[in-house]
Amino acid sequence: MKTIDHWIGGKPVEGGSGNWGPVFDPATGEQAKRVALASVEEVDQAVAAAAAAAADWGTLSLARRTGVLFKYRELLDAHRDELAELITAEHGKVHSDALGEVARGLEIVELACGIPQLLKGELSTQVSTRVDVSSIRQPVGVVAGITPFNFPAMVPMWMFPLAIACGNTFVLKPSEKVPSTAYRLAELASEAGLPEGVLNVVNGDRVAVERLLEHPDVDAISFVGSTPIARHIFTTGTANGKRVQALGGAKNHMLVLPDADLDLAADSAVNAAYGSAGERCMAVSVVVAVGATGDELVARIAERARAVRIGPGDDPASEMGPLITREHRDKVAGYVSGAAAQGAEVVVDGTGLVVEGHERGHFLGVSLLDRVPVGSDAYQDEIFGPVLCVVRAETYEEALRLVNSSRWGNGTAIFTRDGGAARRFQLEVQAGMVGVNVPIPVPVGYHSFGGWKESLFGDHHIYGSDGVHFYTRGKVVTTRWPDPSDGGINLGFPSNH
Ligand code: NAD
Repeated sequence: MKTIDHWIGGKPVEGGSGNWGPVFDPATGEQAKRVALASVEEVDQAVAAAAAAAADWGTLSLARRTGVLFKYRELLDAHRDELAELITAEHGKVHSDALGEVARGLEIVELACGIPQLLKGELSTQVSTRVDVSSIRQPVGVVAGITPFNFPAMVPMWMFPLAIACGNTFVLKPSEKVPSTAYRLAELASEAGLPEGVLNVVNGDRVAVERLLEHPDVDAISFVGSTPIARHIFTTGTANGKRVQALGGAKNHMLVLPDADLDLAADSAVNAAYGSAGERCMAVSVVVAVGATGDELVARIAERARAVRIGPGDDPASEMGPLITREHRDKVAGYVSGAAAQGAEVVVDGTGLVVEGHERGHFLGVSLLDRVPVGSDAYQDEIFGPVLCVVRAETYEEALRLVNSSRWGNGTAIFTRDGGAARRFQLEVQAGMVGVNVPIPVPVGYHSFGGWKESLFGDHHIYGSDGVHFYTRGKVVTTRWPDPSDGGINLGFPSNH
């Protein structure tokens, strides 16, 4: 059986602890590979490699750092298909969707290629007589990244390209469910000329994460995953003196006002709810139908939902693949029957789906629930599967109250032709990313990505200018080149003159 080990100090390192986790092919339900689950010693080896590389990499010229990043960009571009195939094999998403996440990851490498512009400091001359002040930003040191299963390429690439461009070294702990893509990303970085130890991949589970959280040589942590783990990472990491950004789960609401283009809204709801089998942190999981739109909107969504083609991710005819594990598939299916018992109307029930030839695969059809009670589990929990809830609201104000009372605030969207209503929504809604007639408003690389409330713990969004700030520390230098007339004893408070 194929084994995925660690990538430490620019080369493969066997997992010596003897602990292995299974890696499944979600389309067949069979174990396809095994992954090393790092011991504390193996994590320490990765951190030591990163720490040893930090001084040289952090002081290397910007020209040489970006030289590597430009080569990396070209290599990634040439390997898009291969990376997408790795993603599909372990995650299950369809090939076109996997290619999409590689492209979004590449955007961050492209942003990182422009790091000289992003790292430019500030200079004020003559703040006092013959005194200048400059502000510069320097690397933090060793950064650890801990990433979720649902974006095996994109989420790691939200982190390490910018972190290393800023002069840090990096230890990546990818999800143990989808380890191969991160490993390949590190191999390609070496091929591009990245010095050994600058990017390390240590595979593992909770044991590896806990060690990274307490390791004295880890200076900063970027985490993306579910809310309970994000909260734990933030509280433990900061208690250990590290800077932490921890992005958590979501329950994204899409408001449809009565004047919206209903066909566009129905298309968007289906694409955003069922794409990647709903396993996206920016998936639309609740549609709020405002005013009299409800019945017509639900009918149009249902018609489209029934037509979604479900099958293995490597079949070009499939529009949606399987879920990540059998346990998760069964949990998601449980929300559909549970919602019916708690008063929702099941308009489309995907729970009985069997994909011929893939009977043991983790497949689940798409489900549409209408008039979902706000107190039900289907509304309250992050389902993270192909289940779309519809809630009815009489007015815009009622719909807004609903969104703003959610404990999450990752993304949200409004569908309307009314510019004034859209503008109000932008200002009044409590969420980090807002779409106007755009169902999944994931920002481009040069803006930052992040949620509010329980969707993000920490002060910084990820990538964009927030990413540069998170991965650097500020330093302010005050300089005087004295004139012979300067000097003399003066114990008073220094003043500018
Ligand atoms: P997860 O929280 O289970 O795992 C994320 C990472 O944490 C993995 O590397 C995992 O090994 C590690 N981990 C898991 N349990 C742990 C524990 N008890 N102690 C320490 N480490 C632990 O998340 P997942 O199931 O892989 O991913 C899905 C979740 O991620 C969803 O909630 C989704 O909304 C969220 N997500 C959020 C964003 C965002 O940008 N906000 C993006 C992608 C995914």
